[in-house]
Amino acid sequence: MNTEEDEKNKEKVNTGVAPVFSDKSCFNKDWILQSNKKEQINYFTCLICKQVANYPLEITCHEHKNMDELLIVGKRCLQQFLEKNNNTCPIQTHDGCQYRDIKQLLQINNLTVICPHQFQLDLETPGTGEEGTEEKTLIKPACNFKGDMKELIEHLHNSCPLKLFACWFRFFGCDHSCMKELLEEHLTLEKKYHFDLVIKHAESLQQKIQYSQEESMKLQVENQTLKLETELKVDKLNKEIHSKNDEMQQLKDDIKLQLLKKNQEQIQLQSLKIDSIKKEKQNNELTELLKEKDKQIDQLKEQSKNNDNNLFKGYHNNCNIYLIFLVVAIILPLYNAIP
Ligand SMILES: [Zn+2]
Ligand SMILES: [Zn+2]
Ligand SMILES: [Zn+2]
Ligand SMILES: [Zn+2]
Repeated sequence: MNTEEDEKNKEKVNTGVAPVFSDKSCFNKDWILQSNKKEQINYFTCLICKQVANYPLEITCHEHKNMDELLIVGKRCLQQFLEKNNNTCPIQTHDGCQYRDIKQLLQINNLTVICPHQFQLDLETPGTGEEGTEEKTLIKPACNFKGDMKELIEHLHNSCPLKLFACWFRFFGCDHSCMKELLEEHLTLEKKYHFDLVIKHAESLQQKIQYSQEESMKLQVENQTLKLETELKVDKLNKEIHSKNDEMQQLKDDIKLQLLKKNQEQIQLQSLKIDSIKKEKQNNELTELLKEKDKQIDQLKEQSKNNDNNLFKGYHNNCNIYLIFLVVAIILPLYNAIP
């Protein structure tokens, strides 16, 4: 990597190594150099933060396989870099950064280190010769741990006399942490500060309670309003249901009535049909009778005709007799008149 790229990367990621030692971040180079030579850590330098790589990984992208130097980064630094730069490689700008674990991890675990708390303490109180500082330094305990990196965590957790303890008022907002021996001094010196923190916390709690009460009141009012609205709606719905029921009943009654009417009409129709059949039958009988009568009339006519003929014959005979009588009646007087 050239200097320009270095500057760019520094701008992109401010990983920092604020704590001298942490489980995950790269290690403070100055701290490591307290008990190691520069040559020993040459191959462990993280290309991102320039400190000593913790969980060293080797960048193996084919884009820069021609580079001679070993491309080492700390695991945490690489993760943060990739997250912040959309997975762009920290060596050259390209996607799909490739990396792998390397054996240097074992060597790092075997590096000899001093207690990081002691190192930090020495940095903060360099011993400039001022009276107060000297006095303070005197009462401070010291840690003379010097051992392998792999033993460090156990030391820090269990046996370091400089182990830091959080202030008792941490819950109320005091971020101070210090060695056990100095904690009492802090508590005495910062009485007012801690008291103010507690008061502030109590006030904040009170405000929260008040806010909760107000919210609760608001909710109660809303609840009441909703209840009333719901009751009104239910009432309205009930009325509508009643009205609909009435309409339904009315419709049912109408349908019943119409059905009844229809039935009556059908009965009437049936009765009319029966009447009609009867009438037709009577009609047929009458027609038959009429035919019979016609026949009888015809017979009578025939008889009458025959009778007329006989009568005419009789009449003719009678007329002849009358004519003879008439001739006799005329002739007889005339005969008598003849002298
Ligand atoms: Zn790093
Ligand atoms: Zn790359
Ligand atoms: Zn220690
Ligand atoms: Zn405190």
